[in-house]
Amino acid sequence: MRVYRGTFVNPLNDRRYIDFLRDHIVGVQDGTIAFVEPASRLGEMATIHGFNPESDVSVFMGNQFFIPGMIDTHIHAPQYAFTGTATSCPLMEWLEKFTYPTESRFSDLGFAEQVYSKLISRLLKNGCTTGLYYATIHNESSLALARCALRAGQRAFIGKVAMDRNAPDHYRQATATAIEETERFILDARQLNSGLTHPLVEPVVTPRFIPTCTSDLMSGLAALAAKHHCLIQTHAVESIDEVAFVKSLHDAEARHEDDACHCSGGETGCLCERDIMILDKLGLLKPGTVLAHAVHLKEEEAALIKERGAAISHCPLSNYFFSQGVLPLRRCLDWGVTVGLGTDVAGGYAPSLLTAIRETVVSSRTLENRELQEGRVGGPRLRSELRVTWREALWLATMGGAQSLMLANRLGSFAPGKLFDAVLVDPQAPGSPFDVFIDAP
Ligand SMILES: [Zn+2]
Ligand SMILES: [Zn+2]
Repeated sequence: MRVYRGTFVNPLNDRRYIDFLRDHIVGVQDGTIAFVEPASRLGEMATIHGFNPESDVSVFMGNQFFIPGMIDTHIHAPQYAFTGTATSCPLMEWLEKFTYPTESRFSDLGFAEQVYSKLISRLLKNGCTTGLYYATIHNESSLALARCALRAGQRAFIGKVAMDRNAPDHYRQATATAIEETERFILDARQLNSGLTHPLVEPVVTPRFIPTCTSDLMSGLAALAAKHHCLIQTHAVESIDEVAFVKSLHDAEARHEDDACHCSGGETGCLCERDIMILDKLGLLKPGTVLAHAVHLKEEEAALIKERGAAISHCPLSNYFFSQGVLPLRRCLDWGVTVGLGTDVAGGYAPSLLTAIRETVVSSRTLENRELQEGRVGGPRLRSELRVTWREALWLATMGGAQSLMLANRLGSFAPGKLFDAVLVDPQAPGSPFDVFIDAP
């Protein structure tokens, strides 16, 4: 057994609370936490668990502290190669002009390995120990991403991207091919874990988004996810141009017959031609489904996401550039929807969940400020209920991510039975990006 002594910043099950466990000990056996106790119980724990209270204990004192490894619930690994490029384009144009041409280069394994190994090492430096990745449509380079993660010791949920329409010929697959290749990827990726006590790589069924996936492809992928017990990731109601494009596809396919419409309609209008309802009808909305963005969500759609047990990946930085809106995060949390945070590289230019945490707080204040500026709240109540605190944002980056990936019993906080998946923060390390004050308020 290895024992770690120091300060542990520990998110509780209730997202409003983070515990500061000062001078505590965490006992770890084969990667799993056996106990979390005050250091005053060191001798007692040593007797119970049979470890040496000196040589088996690593001590981290001073200003150092542990946080649970952060979980990025939405990141496009190949896009790291063009981070920060052309963020002034609307989403659909950005995809065509920059994203698909870059991603298609990942048929070259050497190029893929170069980008992926740099990305994973950067993410680990920034405290991200688990990523929910989009790779590309290529099986071999998607497996290369898995091998890079394994080498670096990062937990990686990886999607070989499936798309069969509205993309260049060289960057899409026939429907049947995309389904077969996805199944082959699932089997091959799981093979990579052989010999590990705790698997690190897990394949994820990944219909890119409705504009590039036919209904046949999506229902085929839903069947694969059920057969192989895979998580699902896709994008939903991300931007105004994306929502409009999905509606136009729906009109073109004339799938909305009166007798097929079961949505409430009414003031919000028909929801059948929008992402959430379409995904649900195709069997893609379920526990373990992570929907990136969801900025233009309607309340009925949030209720459906909650009912199905799916989650939203909130990507505040990327949303500023591509979504023409801000996710009403506070409302989503109040409605009981599961939410994790995503960097959305390269829609988001920062491969860091610390930035995502900051932007989560800032974007919630943007919504609040707009309400105040427009006079919708005010007078004695100079505060709306839209703000999200840094505590909640850190909670979303850890426990929220764990819940989104159906791993809240294994990740996201320090508790017996969970994996010891931790980041040691040392504010006084050489070159530290911030300063520490003695006796600061
Ligand atoms: Zn309808
Ligand atoms: Zn994305």
